Order: sequence, then C-alpha cells, then structure tokens
Amino acid sequence: MNCPCCSGKSYEECCKPYHTGEKHAPNAEALMRSRFSAFAIPNGEYLMETTLPSKRKFHNKKDLQEWGEINKWMKLEIVNKPSISKVEFKAFYTDDEGNNQIHHELSTFKMVQNRWFYVSGEFLE
Ligand SMILES: [Zn+2]
Repeated sequence: MNCPCCSGKSYEECCKPYHTGEKHAPNAEALMRSRFSAFAIPNGEYLMETTLPSKRKFHNKKDLQEWGEINKWMKLEIVNKPSISKVEFKAFYTDDEGNNQIHHELSTFKMVQNRWFYVSGEFLE
C-alpha cells in the first residue's frame, strides 16, 4: 500500500519501520509524517509514544485512536520547515459527517537522547 503520509513511497519503505519501532524517525519531518500516518491507520499507541513524555498527560491514547478512526485522512502537505524542530503542515481529512476539513498546524518537536518527540502544536487558519 502507498504510505498514508503521501511521500509516494510504499508504507513498508516509509512510515512502517517507525510504527513498529524498528527505527526511529531521523528528523522532525519524518516524525511528523509518521504521526500523520498513525492517525490514518490509526495507531494511538504510536501517537502517545512519540509525544514528549512530559506532555503525555495532555493527551490520551483512546482519544487519539478515536480521532484517527472517525475521520478519513486524505492527504498531508508539508507547508514549511522554519527550523530543524518546527514543521508547518496541512492535514486534509473528511470528518464523520462527510465534510472536508483542513487541519493547519505549526508543530514543535524536540530531540531527546537521539529520538525526536512531538512537543506541541499551534493551530493556524
Ligand atoms: Zn510515510
């Protein structure tokens, strides 16, 4: 199958090794892409694991899993990478009522002991 993150590569050659824990995402964009794929699949466990440990209390695995499930994840577009730890993206999805939605976010990531984690996101119009 094509990777849900729209890289043009197969899932096996793209986000799957990150989801299975075989490899860690080497940079913020790769982590961002793998998190988008994890919503599409969905894989709430991976979304929690890739959140900075001190920020995990603001999220819960069940909600992440459900958010992934109820929406149909159509496309990911990387808009800008203002620094090595920031990625601006648009996630295109169809909600449970069939409306097309765009989630536009500037995400901040952080590297801790050679692994990238999602810290937080700023929602943009
Ligand atoms: Zn991918």
